Amino acid sequence: MSSDTGSGVGAGRYAPSPTGDLHLGNLRTGVLAWLFARSTGRSFGLRIEDLDAARVRAGVAERQRADLESLGLDFDPPLVVQSARSAAYAATLAGLADRTYECFCTRREIAEAASAPHREPGRYPGTCRDLTPVQRADRRRVRAPALRIRAEGAQRTVTDLLHGAVSGEVDDIVVRRNDGVPAYQLAVVVDDGAFGVDQVVRGDDLLSSAPGQAWLADQLDLPAPTYAHVPLALNAAGRRLAKRDGAVTLADLAPSGWTPARVLGLLAGSLDLAEPGESVTTADLLSRFDPARLPREPWIVEPGELGTDRPAG
Ligand code: GLU
Repeated sequence: MSSDTGSGVGAGRYAPSPTGDLHLGNLRTGVLAWLFARSTGRSFGLRIEDLDAARVRAGVAERQRADLESLGLDFDPPLVVQSARSAAYAATLAGLADRTYECFCTRREIAEAASAPHREPGRYPGTCRDLTPVQRADRRRVRAPALRIRAEGAQRTVTDLLHGAVSGEVDDIVVRRNDGVPAYQLAVVVDDGAFGVDQVVRGDDLLSSAPGQAWLADQLDLPAPTYAHVPLALNAAGRRLAKRDGAVTLADLAPSGWTPARVLGLLAGSLDLAEPGESVTTADLLSRFDPARLPREPWIVEPGELGTDRPAG
């Protein structure tokens, strides 16, 4: 198991899905992941989470990397591309075969069953957990199954550098989707384990996944990482920042005079690591970085103000 700070060892990573250009919130999380890793002497890797082929867009992974590098982040090899790692996921799934079961439920069926009284919303209601071989054969004729792992109601507590001890009851996690693609939850755990990632820094929308992922790591005899789930960027309405909110990517912002260096200054200001308008480098931020002093509230971004000729800084 890694210690809380694990100074001088291990690896951090940033793991975007190449579904669209990184917006200010994603870039800020990337900067934080780099700062957490570099300030503790860790290596820092980039992982392309491109298993969901229907959502991946050509050229985006390359632009995401170039955008992060233009801010001053550097990555250590190897570049991990999930779509090239099918053999590793298949081997892991094979090793778990006696603990998984086929699940034929649609999202809608799960949502309906889970909304019944006394059910915890979002939890798998167990519909397919104990199907007989005959029932499974019947259902296979209608729909291809996903695979879930039996968690038997396990509880897992993780250590998060910003949230402290976070506990959760582990759900029967989907480890292979019904189109045969390894599930996100499985791939994350397999890859973090395979590449020695012992520090996971990502948006706090994924905090509730951490106990299940740590439990899955336990099942695979992998050490669970230390986590830091960082606050998201929100729009003025309090919703998660998105491309539709306006000029929020480096490419959108460039015509209004927002160079990458200036955007780094904006992000640094939002993290209380720079004065408004101050010009900073990632090396400056590294020397100022103190996780204990990070803002714990979401960053509110008003893209209307950024898209002007005279950046608000
Ligand atoms: N690919 C995920 C995302 O873009 C991040 C997964 C992770 O960091 O564990 O939200």
